[in-house]
Amino acid sequence: MAFSLHGVHLPHRKATARMAAVRVAAPKSVLLPTMMHIGRPAVPVVKAGDHVDVGTLVAEQDGLISSPVYASVSGTVKKITEIVLSGGAAVPAILIESDGAMTPDPALCPPVVGSRADLIEAIRKSGVVGLGGAGFPTYVKFLTEDPGRIRELIVNGAECEPYITSDTRAMLDESADMALAFRALEEHLGIPRILIGIENNKKEAIAQMRRLAEQDPRITVRPLRTLYPQGGEKVLIYHTTGKVVPAGKLPIDVGCVVSNCSTLAAIGRYLRTGMPLVERCITVDGSAVREPGNVIVPIGMAAGDVFEACGGFSAAPGKVLYGGPMMGVSVPDLAAPVLKNTNALLAFSEKDAAIPAPTACISCGACQNHCPFHLRPAAIARAYRNGDVKKLEKLQPELCMECGCCAYICPAGRPLVQTNKLAKAVLRDARAKEKEAAQ
Ligand code: SF4
Ligand code: SF4
Repeated sequence: MAFSLHGVHLPHRKATARMAAVRVAAPKSVLLPTMMHIGRPAVPVVKAGDHVDVGTLVAEQDGLISSPVYASVSGTVKKITEIVLSGGAAVPAILIESDGAMTPDPALCPPVVGSRADLIEAIRKSGVVGLGGAGFPTYVKFLTEDPGRIRELIVNGAECEPYITSDTRAMLDESADMALAFRALEEHLGIPRILIGIENNKKEAIAQMRRLAEQDPRITVRPLRTLYPQGGEKVLIYHTTGKVVPAGKLPIDVGCVVSNCSTLAAIGRYLRTGMPLVERCITVDGSAVREPGNVIVPIGMAAGDVFEACGGFSAAPGKVLYGGPMMGVSVPDLAAPVLKNTNALLAFSEKDAAIPAPTACISCGACQNHCPFHLRPAAIARAYRNGDVKKLEKLQPELCMECGCCAYICPAGRPLVQTNKLAKAVLRDARAKEKEAAQ
């Protein structure tokens, strides 16, 4: 798969970039879903009536691809309930009523890290997952039988979606913790090279990261052209190293591990303090938000409480999103909690959220010309509508990373990301049936 500088120029709308994150007051309660990561849900280890402190384990990891969950307030477990997440999965969730004291768990202390195994175990125990939105358990990325296989750690500081500036704040405000994580990864995993990719519209972040690079010859800062989606994993690897991750392969197959800058800062924080992931910085913005800014909130705080902490709404919101306007997903209701991988909460007025009705495809080819993977979204949509599985096999919708460039650029307003998702599901089903029949 070849790449070129395909993508789209988006309005930045990053007025919050200069606003340092402010910690909000403890909410009355938090709701902690046991699945805030890719993989299996964690398993609750507390019951109603238990007292917990900030950082107390409340749900243990279940299996390799999973992540533990920790109390983000001190108080009392009210109940284990069920929550339906944006993707439709129903999972157990732990409701904790805060005592307002935010008492840290006295048993917590910084991990002792003297070896590769210690470091990977520390990252696992930290509960850190991809904080840029992906939510993949971070420790798994560093699990490789051949430690020499990781040649490059690519730090994702691209932050290419409009509005979101929480990563920029991590690079500006938490660079010391990022440096701690870098040193641990270099020392115990022997990673020889660290490349920090940042879009060139973030001059202060680039300057701050260059200060880190001055202290460590293994670090290189790579300013990237400001073009969405520079932060896409495979796009970032290509634009920082020149390496192409073949279709169906992983970054590690070309010697790379990609990790978001906020994720690395969270690892550094855990190594320094022993406090697992219980809070995070998120950007709160959008046309319906009265006082946009960056805030540090406990994981599990209700979206509605976060907006209240930002002055409430200036207009009735027509759309509320976890994440950015390109790849974000709808917040089902304002009681829905901030998740580990929530990097932003955006609320738009009804006028700004209105989507014009799609018109007929005019075969202009713009969708294909702007796709970073050179996919053919209009043809995929046609094959999907026609139920043509053979054609879909050739068009490879499974390579689509759902960046939304095609839909953004389409003059007919076609719902191309949605049809790509449906086409992927059709292919998955067809392949599963084929496998079943063969067996
Ligand atoms: S087809 Fe997928 S990868 Fe290509 S532009 Fe559309 S959403 Fe992005
Ligand atoms: S950009 Fe829209 S109108 Fe143009 S070919 Fe693609 S789907 Fe059709």
